[in-house]
Amino acid sequence: MGLLSEGNPLSWEETKKLADHVREHGINQFVNLYHRLKDRQGDILKWGDEVEYIIVKFDDEQKVARVALKAQDLLHKLNEKEHADPKGVKSLWRPEYGAYMIEGTPGKPFGGLMAHFNLVEANMRYRREEVTELLASDECVMSITNFPRLGAPNFTYPLHQPRPEDPLSSARSLYFPDEAIFPGHPRFKTLTRNIRKRRGEKVSIKLKVFKDVNTKLPVEGAPPGEPDVVLLDAMGFGMGCCCLQLTFQACNITEARRLYDQLAPLCPIMLALTAASPVYRGYLTESDCRWNVISSSVDCRTPEERGLEPLKDSKFRIAKSRYDSIDSYLSPEGAKYNDVKLTYDDDVYNRLIDGGIDHLLAQHVAHLFIRDTVSLFSEKVHQNDNEDTDHFENIQSTNWQTMRFKPPPPNSSIGWRVEFRPCEAQISDFENAAIVCFVVLLTRVILSYQLNFLTPISKVDENMQTAQKRDACRKEKFWFRKSSKSPEQRAAKQNGNASAPTTNGTAKATTNGSEEEDEPNKQPQVNGTAKMNGHSNGISNGTTNGHAHNGGVDSDHTDTDDEENELFQLLTINEIFNGKPGVFPGLVPLIRSYLQSMEVDTDTHCTIEQYLRFIQKRAAGELVTTATWIRDQVLNHPDYKQDSVVSESINYDLLKCIQRIQEGKHIEPALLGQGNHSKTKDFIPHALQKQLAKNGCCEDK
Ligand code: ADP
Ligand code: MG
Ligand code: MG
Ligand code: MG
Repeated sequence: MGLLSEGNPLSWEETKKLADHVREHGINQFVNLYHRLKDRQGDILKWGDEVEYIIVKFDDEQKVARVALKAQDLLHKLNEKEHADPKGVKSLWRPEYGAYMIEGTPGKPFGGLMAHFNLVEANMRYRREEVTELLASDECVMSITNFPRLGAPNFTYPLHQPRPEDPLSSARSLYFPDEAIFPGHPRFKTLTRNIRKRRGEKVSIKLKVFKDVNTKLPVEGAPPGEPDVVLLDAMGFGMGCCCLQLTFQACNITEARRLYDQLAPLCPIMLALTAASPVYRGYLTESDCRWNVISSSVDCRTPEERGLEPLKDSKFRIAKSRYDSIDSYLSPEGAKYNDVKLTYDDDVYNRLIDGGIDHLLAQHVAHLFIRDTVSLFSEKVHQNDNEDTDHFENIQSTNWQTMRFKPPPPNSSIGWRVEFRPCEAQISDFENAAIVCFVVLLTRVILSYQLNFLTPISKVDENMQTAQKRDACRKEKFWFRKSSKSPEQRAAKQNGNASAPTTNGTAKATTNGSEEEDEPNKQPQVNGTAKMNGHSNGISNGTTNGHAHNGGVDSDHTDTDDEENELFQLLTINEIFNGKPGVFPGLVPLIRSYLQSMEVDTDTHCTIEQYLRFIQKRAAGELVTTATWIRDQVLNHPDYKQDSVVSESINYDLLKCIQRIQEGKHIEPALLGQGNHSKTKDFIPHALQKQLAKNGCCEDK
């Protein structure tokens, strides 16, 4: 959940009074940091994942599974190693919203070498083992997106009951007790309370129940007049879900803005592919994903802002929750696809413009800043705007969007980064690693081939809703930008392009932009130590890198308005990933074509191939999404009464089965095929390291 400031949280009334103060200084801080850092160049590609986990406790006698409220205790132990040796640890552990959740990341980010793709899964496995060692034999750490019976009676261990009437309760939920909120940091309960208070009532999350032949209507707790709705009423239902996130460092701000834009249209696509959460509060629903749940779970808009009442006390109507899909592109190429009117305060926008920020970035920041702070700590109220960035981060880190544009933190060696945030957590390390490596490879292909996925924001919004529908991965179609050229045609075009030199007949992917002017035949990579460093490979910044080779995706400059209408087509997930002749080459074929030009050591190659094949099969519907698999498990369970209810025993058996899958003790052909055999390692082999050192790229030891 981003920033974790220390200190004492202010009351909602005090926080509310300081909303303009935070905004004003947050904007000053952004303007100052922008000028300090806008010319920062030459950062290398670094990237890392974040996986969130739920701790489950099994009662094998009663056949009941509950969430174990022991994250704080676990984190104490998990953080000991980090405290002793902050730079040397292989993993980092952070609190998350739930008292039953933890978030794990690699100890340090991965770098720009192909061989790093082989480290991800082993690192994820290490993290899982590290937690497992601290658990009792009846407990299990699971990377599941949602605990299926979260909010159903008696879902926590130890047992706690919600206190909806208690004025001291943060959530006041009928279902989700405050004890299930992480107790070790005041941020989480403060956010819960303040979001509820700002909104003027409890949050309200509505999901259509999956209607089976015996489904009893109204569903327990359904709102009046909406008998088929599963109603959830607390932040914990959304923020208590787990996800898989990725952060990349760009070589400079321009590349970061470009990557932000190019990845934004892929968010709904990846959400559909990773759909993993069809069950809420013990009911099968019509939704396969957490996104709308989490979006509504922190929707702090007042009734006026939501358009339910005429504007009186609130400044604007606001179209979306502060947790939602992005609303505008940041790069010049993206500008024409900003087809949804952005809400922002003109004064804030003008201050950004007067501060020397360009229109696209100014409107992005002004739009983030329509939100009030919902968590403010007394120690952080007064700041030095020339050095501190807490007020900016306060608003930035509570705009939870599909993509996040992350400026470098103060006084650090970290560069401009973008975060990719839509994916749902998958059951196995193999799947999570496959998704992570796929997305990182995609960024390399986007930069290298200058691909263009830009799609009007209104269509991306539409895709976000489509992505969450039941079995969207196999059944729905998504707006996608057309490109008529196959990878072969694209490669042929590149090979014929004098300004895009190639070596050994393969498409250039990694040569150094500046070097190649002088040495057009320089080998792009040496002896299996392929680098993918955005900066030093010159594959980074389309705007400064004179030769545009465009990976077969039509570029903006040649579009006329007529063509524009033709440009966006409705494609299935299969067509997007595996290609549709004459329309789009397919994301995986594009990656394969890119990889042909890279020299990769055999083990890494094998691992990447496993991942790509897995993704191709899931996209093709040959393998099912986690969400579909969970549905099938429920529907086929002997205790299932065709009433949409995921009972204690169904929940228990489902989670036990997931445990066996993640431990590799059970193979589910529908999910993973006949097993997977990636050659993941937790180190880069010695021989390769020596080679790297020789080539002057030994940043990782
Ligand atoms: P947040 O919770 O704010 O999104 P985290 O610190 O939890 O951020 O995780 C960010 C991810 O970014 C981690 O996987 C981490 O390894 C990775 N990371 C750290 N430093 C860099 C960097 N310089 N560039 C890119 N990624 C980085
Ligand atoms: Mg997190
Ligand atoms: Mg994090
Ligand atoms: Mg994150």
